[in-house]
Amino acid sequence: MVTKTGETELELSRWAERLRKEPPAPSRSRIVERALAVANRGAWIDWLRVVHPGRELPDGEGDPLFTDGSRAAQYWMQAALTAIIERKVTPLTPEQIAQWCGSAEGVLSLPSYSVVGGKLRTDVRYQEFEHHREQPDGMLALVLMWLLDEDDFGHRLSLCQHCGKFFLAKPPKKQGRWLRRYCSPTHMQEALAVLSRERSSKWRKNRKQK
Ligand SMILES: [Zn+2]
Repeated sequence: MVTKTGETELELSRWAERLRKEPPAPSRSRIVERALAVANRGAWIDWLRVVHPGRELPDGEGDPLFTDGSRAAQYWMQAALTAIIERKVTPLTPEQIAQWCGSAEGVLSLPSYSVVGGKLRTDVRYQEFEHHREQPDGMLALVLMWLLDEDDFGHRLSLCQHCGKFFLAKPPKKQGRWLRRYCSPTHMQEALAVLSRERSSKWRKNRKQK
């Protein structure tokens, strides 16, 4: 006969065993990058892979339920990220905030500690214990919390002026300013090239009119 405590201990040891077998927990910045990819290119499978590591996932391709779901998540995330970026101009509504907070609170953080090379390492796994049928799902809402926080990822969330994609601004390599207007040096160069072409065609037009 298994006592109540016995069962709990068994459960705990099973849980610990599962955690040991699971692949390493993804870092928070990897989770945020993948959430942005959901908005940018509907990378839904990549998102599920990072938030549910080691879990078997649907093929995705050709499954209308799946493609519709991923498209809905993409539109939803695009709108949410735009709202976060523009919140200094157009404040978020209390209803919006309440919905996001409620979903994010349905996610448990489970830290695990280990010593690697004499240094303490903390891994955090996330487990949705309350499932919300409406958007956003808990993990996407949790990312929104991190992005709303200016001391967290909030100060890095940016929108590329050239390609219109969301990205996390990176700190400058040596000195100088953060690159916040463009997602990559290539897009900055391309945008500057377009600007200078526009300027020279304007200049030529003005000269013709004289
Ligand atoms: Zn870009």
